[in-house]
Amino acid sequence: MALKTGPGPKKRLVVATNNPGKLTEIRAILGDLPLEILSLRDYPEMAEVEETGATFEENALLKARAVAAHSGEMTLADDSGLEVDHLGGAPGVYSARFAGEPSSPERNNRKLLEMMAGVPASERGGRFRCVIALVDPGGGTRLARGSCDGVIALEPSGDKGFGYDPLFFLPELGKSMAELELDQKNRISHRARALAEARDILNSWLK
Ligand code: IMP
Repeated sequence: MALKTGPGPKKRLVVATNNPGKLTEIRAILGDLPLEILSLRDYPEMAEVEETGATFEENALLKARAVAAHSGEMTLADDSGLEVDHLGGAPGVYSARFAGEPSSPERNNRKLLEMMAGVPASERGGRFRCVIALVDPGGGTRLARGSCDGVIALEPSGDKGFGYDPLFFLPELGKSMAELELDQKNRISHRARALAEARDILNSWLK
């Protein structure tokens, strides 16, 4: 009798987030890889990892290493934020808490508009950035990066997306990020671009 030779149990990937929106986006892009995708919801006992790094890279690595050490599984962590040229790259790694604790997108957006008051259109450029760290407890660590350029609008528009999306205007589309459907955002966003690179790295690890 022939032995059954299936693909075997799927490898697991823990996505170091509690944010259901991010998890949906990540599942949409990595969903067809032969991986069982878990998140921090599967590890409720794990303490929150403090984002004490000075760069997106440091924060993504801090989270990925801590979660990989705790779970013993391959782990993906991302860190992202908005960099505004006129503000020397702020809010950057402080994007979530730009207007203080607790994190409030409304107050963050109001603060950004106040700081950009009177700044001419030609100096309102910036970008969303995302860095993804992948850690394999077996040894490997890799980083993937993505960015998306835009302009800080004079007033918010749109009600989709999250965070700074209503103020992030995409000149080539003539719309703010918050006016895009999710699948459109997922084609151009900083996170989608970093995830596409992360996907290639995971594919090479799975071979
Ligand atoms: P974190 O990567 O979860 O730490 O997110 C950092 C912060 O950056 C978020 O709270 C938002 O303020 C901002 N941010 C990151 N990605 C996006 C995005 O796609 N749209 C709008 N804001 C974003």
